[in-house]
Order: sequence, then structure tokens, then C-alpha cells
Amino acid sequence: MTLTGKMLIGQHAVCGHREAIQAINPATDQPLAPAYPGGAGEHVEQACALAWAAFDSYRDTSLAARAAFLETIADNIEALGDELIERAMAETGLPRPRIQGERGRTCGQLRTFARTVRAGEWLDVRVDTAQPARQPLPRADLRQRHIALGPVAVFGASNFPLAFSVAGGDTASALAAGCPVIVKAHGAHPGTSELVGRALAKAVKDCGLPDGVFSLLYGSGREVGIALVTDPRIKAVGFTGSRSGGIALTQAAQARPEPIPVYAEMSSINPVYLFPAALHTRAEALAQGFVASLTQGAGQFCTNPGLVIAVAGPALERFVATASELLPACAAQTMLTPGIFQAYEAGVSSLAEHAQIAAKGLAAQGPNQGQAQLFVTQASAFLRNEHLQAEVFGAASLVVVCANDEEVRQVSEQLEGQLTATLHLDDADLTRAQALLPVLERKAGRLLVNGWPTGVEVCDAMVHGGPFPATSDSRSTSVGTAAILRFLRPVCYQDFPDSLLPAALQHANPLLLRRLLDGQRERPER
Ligand code: NAP
Repeated sequence: MTLTGKMLIGQHAVCGHREAIQAINPATDQPLAPAYPGGAGEHVEQACALAWAAFDSYRDTSLAARAAFLETIADNIEALGDELIERAMAETGLPRPRIQGERGRTCGQLRTFARTVRAGEWLDVRVDTAQPARQPLPRADLRQRHIALGPVAVFGASNFPLAFSVAGGDTASALAAGCPVIVKAHGAHPGTSELVGRALAKAVKDCGLPDGVFSLLYGSGREVGIALVTDPRIKAVGFTGSRSGGIALTQAAQARPEPIPVYAEMSSINPVYLFPAALHTRAEALAQGFVASLTQGAGQFCTNPGLVIAVAGPALERFVATASELLPACAAQTMLTPGIFQAYEAGVSSLAEHAQIAAKGLAAQGPNQGQAQLFVTQASAFLRNEHLQAEVFGAASLVVVCANDEEVRQVSEQLEGQLTATLHLDDADLTRAQALLPVLERKAGRLLVNGWPTGVEVCDAMVHGGPFPATSDSRSTSVGTAAILRFLRPVCYQDFPDSLLPAALQHANPLLLRRLLDGQRERPER
């Protein structure tokens, strides 16, 4: 497939006329053709008009038709073959197995949402039948289901060019909910975005859906991004990226005459707690697992373990010593973009000003290669210095040495909201862990024991979210099937004749949905 450098507004390939975006191969610092001239206000207008025109008919598609559409997107992405893998590798510097794995996750995610759509539980059907004879007042017939919010603007992330980008989790969950999607492509991987965008637009056509179900725009966040978020036809936003970008979009959405929800996933340093008994019995093994998690994918994961918290003592010293022996053998890795590499360099310089360096990985051998770094500080210094809490996106981490359990608790209380908190513990640590849990539940969206936070499963129970600044709305997840809930709202139908009700709410339950019927959970055979 020849890349065109054009946007996709519905089924039309349209050339922008603003400053062009051009991908840079971060491994060579060389630009990659073609250039993608940026879109402007009129392109946002066209995409939003089409999305709005498509909304009512798209949200009215049957569960089977919508599920088949999601599966067709996955099939079409797979049909792109190696061209997609090679373009994504060139645009991100990520190795082949990682991109292949991410394609599998992206297509698996689309198919998981297809299963979710078919099951229909997300409709959350509740029926309270009429009680005309109830005293002192009769009760009306009340029926509730969830409907799609409206067209959704999605901002693709830099660090997952497939799984969090054009057809990633935000897009899949919004389409599953019945929302048309307009993606603002991330400037770091425009070619990957075009390939996936065309696969998605083809699925719209293959399935006979209205054109406006999907559009893909290129351009600057400050022009195209803000125009999208402030367009009255956009009803929600999905974003993964920097804290400043997420806040700018959230504020723009809140300042609208009609404010809308922004689901922004932004910044997290993912504390890892090493409890005393676990540290005593396996400090060296923990250091090995930690270094592997820290350096995976050049540390460019939102769940990267950026903070280690433990009580001082010989066992913690063994952990730091082993990690410091292992890190110098870790190769520097190409980061996603020159900008992200420069931000990493600035972040580690700031950490070096405020904490002691414990170890560094191998020095860079090429452009934009991030060198892994481990720092150590005392809890008393951490508690005084907000610089030590800033996310450094990349393979850098800080060990916070606490004098006692009370200092562990104080450090934990001071943490901002997090995507994850990890507890390494043995049986003898359970009482200590139990005491800390209420604090960690308040701070993080996912708590994990004796594992590492990198690696996020796409499943029904996953929470990839957390209090600010991990996300802008701690009530939601951006990974897993519960992500669909972000793009839905409940509607109640009172005293409707059966023939006027949507099929999901009709008396005979023709869709065989699980319903809450007069307070009892119904489980019809499907
Ligand atoms: P970014 O700079 O936030 O950009 C993400 C998207 O948001 C881009 O499309 C960008 O548009 C847009 N945007 C940014 N600022 C905006 C603003 N003020 N108004 C409107 N739109 C705006 O994120 P990035 O390029 O992916 O990475 C930069 C940093 O983000 C990293 O160094 C890292 O700190 C952080 N990051 C965090 C995570 C995480 O999961 N926690 C993931 C990825 C990145 P433009 O194309 O115009 O820039």
C-alpha cells in the first residue's frame, strides 16, 4: 500500500494545508516520507459533521452488526501484513517482536470488545415493572438501558503506536459503545496511523456503515486537537500522553458551553514496595525482576516502576547493590522520538540534582538512546522535594530509603495518584501490607502482589486508571472491557408501550439480555 500523506474524512482522502508532520526514524534521526500536511478548522468541521450525521444510525446498529464491524477492523489490520510492522518499527525504534506483539494485542482487543458487544451486559438493562395497585401511590413502568454518548475524539499515544493509537483501546471501546470516532493522529507515527486508519475506514465500507463512523486527522494539537475537543458535536475525549497535554484538553473541554468528559491518562511513577521479609529472603531475585521491568521497552511504559520504597537495612542494601551490578550491563535503547529522548535527559538531570546516582546502564551508541539510571534518596528528602515525584518517562527509577514503617506510610500518603502500586511480600509481611492497603487503595487503580507493573492484560477485570494525575477521571479504566462505560450514559423509559421500546427493553426480552427485573437478576438461555 502506498502511503499518501492524506487525512481520512469518512471515506475521503483529504490533503491538509497546514505545516506538515513528518515522522523521524529515531534510530537514525532521518525523516521518513511522506510528509503529512496538517489539517485545519475546516477539516475538523467536515469530520464532525459526518460523525454527527452517522451517530444515530451507527448507535442503532444491532449488537451482531457492531461486533462484526469490530472483528472486520481486526481482520483488516492483520491483512496489512508486514508493511504495518516495518513502518511502525521505523517510526518508533521499537523492535519487531514488540510491534508484532502489539498488533496481536490490538486485534485481540477489538475481538474482545466484539464479544462484549454481543453479550450486551454493558447495556445494563434494569426493569421495574408497573405496580398500578401499589399504595399509597401506584408505581410507573420504568426501564433503563445505556446508550452511546455521541462522537468521540481520540488522541493516539506515542508509546503504543498500535494498541493505544488509531485503532487502540480508546477507539475500540468508543466504537463498541456505538460512538463514531475521530482520531487526531500522533505526530510520531503518521504512516502507521494512515495504514491502520485505512484498514479501519475499509471496515466501515465493508460493513456498510455510514461514512462518518470514523475519520483520521493530522495536525497540531493546539489547532486540530483543541478544535476537535471544543466542537459541540464531540461528546467525549480519550487521550494518553503528557500531563500538560491532558490538562490542556481537559480544561478546553470544561470551558465549553456544554462541558464534556475527558478521559486522559497522563502521569504515573508506579511505586513498588519491598517489604522486609520478602527483601530479606530474595533481595537479589527482586533486583533482577526490577531491572528487567525498568528497562523493558526503554522504560517507555505508563506502568514503568519509577519508584521503589523500602525500610533501610542490609537487605535493601543487597537489593540496591544487585540492581547496581545489573544495570551497567543494560544497553541504552532507542527512544520513541527525539522529543521524548530530550525530555528523558532533562528528567534524569533533574533527578541527579536532587538524589544520589546508584548506577547507570551502558552509554548510548546511537541517536536518541536512553541510558537506564537508578537513583537513591532518603525518605526525609523525598518528603521535602516535589521534583523527586515527577514522572521521568523512560528507564529511570528512584529508591526511597525509609527509616521505619511510619516513614513508608508518610511517603505513601504524599504520593500523587498512580496507575499501579506493587507489593513484594512474604507471609511475614502480611500485617504490614494490610496496614498500608487503605492508603494504596486511595492512591492507585491497580494493586499487585509479587509481580511487576509493566504488562497490562486486556480483560474484564483490568483497571488501567487511577486518581489524578494518573488519569483525569479516577472512575474509569482505559484498558479492558470496562473501558466501554466511559462512552455510555443511562436513559430511563417510563410507561412506554412495548412497541415503542428499544428491543433491549421490550417485555419479551428478544435480545435475551441479562436483566435486573424487579430486583432479581434474570439469566435467559442464549
Ligand atoms: P503529548 O505531548 O501529550 O502529545 C499527545 C497528543 O496530545 C499529541 O497529539 C499532541 O499534539 C496533543 N497535545 C499535547 N499538548 C497539547 C495541548 N496543549 N493542546 C492540545 N493538544 C495537545 O505526549 P507525547 O508526545 O506522547 O509524549 C510526551 C510526554 O508524554 C512523554 O515524555 C511522557 O512524559 C508523557 N507520556 C506519558 C504516557 C503515559 O502513559 N503516562 C504515555 C506517553 C507519553 P501535537 O501533535 O501537536 O504534539
